[in-house]
Formats: sequence, C-alpha cells, structure tokens
Amino acid sequence: MILETLTACPVCGHARFTPFLKAKDQTVSHAEFQIVACSDCNFLFTNPRPPASEIGQYYESNEYISHHDDAKDLMSKVYNLVRDYTTQQKIKLLHHAVPGKGTLLDVGCGTGFFLSKAREACWQVHGTEPDTQARAVAMGRVGEAIHENIEAPFFDSKTYEAITMWHVLEHVHQLNETMDWLHQHLAPQGRLFIAVPNPESEDAQAYQENWAAYDVPRHLYHFSKKAISDLARAHKFKVVRILPMWFDAYYVSMLSTRYAQGSTSLPASVWQGTVSNWKGRKSAEKEYNTSSLIYVLSKN
Ligand SMILES: [Zn+2]
Repeated sequence: MILETLTACPVCGHARFTPFLKAKDQTVSHAEFQIVACSDCNFLFTNPRPPASEIGQYYESNEYISHHDDAKDLMSKVYNLVRDYTTQQKIKLLHHAVPGKGTLLDVGCGTGFFLSKAREACWQVHGTEPDTQARAVAMGRVGEAIHENIEAPFFDSKTYEAITMWHVLEHVHQLNETMDWLHQHLAPQGRLFIAVPNPESEDAQAYQENWAAYDVPRHLYHFSKKAISDLARAHKFKVVRILPMWFDAYYVSMLSTRYAQGSTSLPASVWQGTVSNWKGRKSAEKEYNTSSLIYVLSKN
C-alpha cells in the first residue's frame, strides 16, 4: 500500500504539523495510522493516508454496518433502533431549519433510509453513494436515481434547499473542492447540515487512541468546532447552529471499550456515554460538546 502524504493543511494551507496520536484501524487492516495537528490552526487529520484510488479496500468489512441492513447481533439491533429515532430527529431539524421544504440532497446516503423518510415528509430527494451495493438498495427504497458521487453530470445545474452529510465529510478526499461544490449547489437561503465526530468530546478524551470515532484510515479528518468554523469561513459559509447527537456517545463508547479491553462492556459503555453526554451538554458558557455534533451552515 502506497500512502499519500499531505504537505499542506487542508484547512489553512500551513506546511508544518506535529504528531497528535497514532490510532489503529480496528475493523479492516489493523494497521496503525498517524493523526497530525496543524501547527497553525490545530486541524487534526490522518497523515499519511490511503489515496482515493486505494481507500475502497478499507471499507471491505462486515463490521462497517452503515452500508448494510441485515445485521443480526445485539449491537447492530440497537444501532437500527436508534437509527429510526435519530432519523425522525433529523427530519424535524430539517423542517425547523428549512420550513418551506423543497429539494434535498443527501451526500453519502448509504442505503437511503434517511432519504426515504424525508421523501415521506414531502421533500423532493436526491442522493449520492459510492458503494455499489448500498446505492442499489437506496434506489429501490427511494425510487429515484441515486448517483455515485457529486461529480455526476446530473447535478450540474441543480440547487438544493437542504444538503445533508451525515458522517460523510470526514471521509472525503477532496475536502476543499467538495466545500466549493456545496456552496455552488446550495440555494441562496438553503442550509447545509454536516454531522461529524467531535475529537474534543469527553469520550474522545477518555479513550484516547482507542476512541472508535477516529476510525482511521476511513476518517481522513477529525473536526473540532474551530475546524468546522474555519473551513466554513474559507468557503463562504457560516455556522448558524450546533446540535448534539446524544446516541453517538453510547455507540462510540461500546466500540471504544471493545478496542481498549478486547471485549464489549455494556455497563462501562453506558456509564462513559452518559458521563460524556452530561459533560457535553450546552450551558451558558459553552456550546454542545458531545461525541458527535451536527453543524447547520448557511451561506454568508
Ligand atoms: Zn491548518
């Protein structure tokens, strides 16, 4: 495997980085990857990383259940139950941020569960999904063409009232090109929703290199609130809201406990998840700081 090494920070362009931590790919290759911090803006990114042409092989695992719906074990069942609830919450958020509804693009739509619910809620939906199998399921579910990626000519003249990226931006090689594309394809009053893991959360601090949401090398970036804000500004967006994802602390803690101790401990995970959510709650002094965060962006 030939890895590619970034020589400039993807957010600010600075050329000097310091080692942040080394994390292991726990699901596919079991190889170790370095996460670095930009010396100027503190952005955390996986460096070196597999190039876009090679990353596909790092998704070849049954454990990567976001693409599959036939999971049978307990953790997957819980995951699916939670997905039903969180999907309803996402739709509510969409309606709150874009009351007039309209067109929705879900980038990295997986098997199309969220899109199908959005369509039931009267959104006109489109999606992209690079995984062939997941894309086929999504097409069956949504009854619309789902395209492989945003480069499809289909999108050339389209704009959207809402664009969603649920745990997707951290996987995207062409970060700045993608942000520019999003700006170009978001309607003037539209909203962009970006959900990403939060490396400053309490569970990230607790599990360190075993924090499951580092998920190297699939996660190329590890966005802090400052990083999202810097990236937004660089691409003529602004962050208008930050929202918590409460369930991620439990899911991430379950996986992290397994990585750290070799087996899943439900009590330890529930405890850590609860502590993390408590410490990550919003207060007069601070924004939400939970395991994962949803950023709502508007155009400047
Ligand atoms: Zn930087």
